[in-house]
Amino acid sequence: MPKAQHTAYTHAYVKMLWLKWHAMASVESEAQALFAQALGYRTFRVIVEGEPLLPNEIPCPNQTHKVTCAQCMLCDGRDSAWERITGRIKKSIAVVVHGSELKGMSKPARFAIAKAKQLREAA
Ligand code: SF4
Repeated sequence: MPKAQHTAYTHAYVKMLWLKWHAMASVESEAQALFAQALGYRTFRVIVEGEPLLPNEIPCPNQTHKVTCAQCMLCDGRDSAWERITGRIKKSIAVVVHGSELKGMSKPARFAIAKAKQLREAA
């Protein structure tokens, strides 16, 4: 059965491990990304321009190829069927924070970025 098409993000990845099959762990640092990934999540990490990617991350295609979330749909958590077929977990996502590049992003993605940006600035 194909996976439902959606994008979803959570900051409550520690409390809700089962969400890894449906949502990205929304994180603000490399340490948080590694922790959430160790818990089994794919991550959606807010970075600043020039910050290096982790080996299992790709930049958000909205920012590199101007695709919309509706076209991309990479932020849909883990995918057991895909993992069974390929033996691999889909890449995690890194998104550069600079507000002008959010055009075409889904509301949940924009919300996750805004919240991560806020938490990152407060840290
Ligand atoms: S465009 Fe970026 S934010 Fe939207 S689904 Fe794809 S990777 Fe996620």
